[in-house]
Amino acid sequence: MTIPQGSSFCIDLHCHSTASDGTLSPRELVQRAGEMGVSHLALTDHDTIDGLAEARQYAQMEGLTLINGVELSCVWNRQTIHVVGLDFDHRSSRFLEVLAEQHENRWRRARKIAERLARKDPEPLLSLATAKAGGDVPGRPHFARALIDQGVVSDMNQAFNRHLGAGKPGDVKAFWPELATVVRWIVEAGGVAVLAHPRKYKMTATKLRGLVGDFKQAGGRAIEVSTSGQQSGDLGFLAELCRREGMWASQGSDFHFPGASWCELGRMDKLPEGLDPVWQHFRQRLLTEQSAPA
Ligand code: MN
Ligand code: MN
Ligand code: MN
Repeated sequence: MTIPQGSSFCIDLHCHSTASDGTLSPRELVQRAGEMGVSHLALTDHDTIDGLAEARQYAQMEGLTLINGVELSCVWNRQTIHVVGLDFDHRSSRFLEVLAEQHENRWRRARKIAERLARKDPEPLLSLATAKAGGDVPGRPHFARALIDQGVVSDMNQAFNRHLGAGKPGDVKAFWPELATVVRWIVEAGGVAVLAHPRKYKMTATKLRGLVGDFKQAGGRAIEVSTSGQQSGDLGFLAELCRREGMWASQGSDFHFPGASWCELGRMDKLPEGLDPVWQHFRQRLLTEQSAPA
């Protein structure tokens, strides 16, 4: 993890707020980004842009440039993949529609889990789990806590071992769209589709190249080359992949909450030389090292 040296520009194109699974509100997140010296920030909450308006308002006050962002879940070869969308038109009505669909997909899954675990009357379990999720769509950990409250199990381990873990009735797969579909949504809204944290999928190099090939074919333009928590060697590997495939390079911390030593806003390895940074291709021309007057 390095801090950009000798530069007044610090670009972080991947982070989360309370609009999805982050712990800071968009306002707190932007303020923290300002404290960390971030000059250009994209808030990329999971499958929602609900935090953008508040983030934009406080970014202006902090003197920070906010770039529209989102992180969409999808499937490729039966595996869940994350695609970050950047610099899209947040007023696109079609884009707002598909985001609402993504949200509904989360609820469909939650209802299915409740139905599987409480056949006769799923409603009480679903509403208890929803309360555990703070009113948002519950996931399996929230169902686990609800089952504990209901006295069905005594702890989280039991909840997963008996009801929610792999192969158990509550192990319901998410209903995500195909990779090509979410890439199309982003492109149609005028944005750039970025393959998020490629090393997190634990794929072989061959499989990852297959993913990048299909992603490119679908209209994806960039790869996240630098993100938090990468193993040594990942940066060079991804930079090489990026160059070979002729993709643009992105960077982002994937920050969710303060206090983790491995992850902080604006703190990630510098992009290796010879890559084409994604921000050079945004519709809004950013004032960065390359374009700033000397
Ligand atoms: Mn997350
Ligand atoms: Mn992700
Ligand atoms: Mn993320």
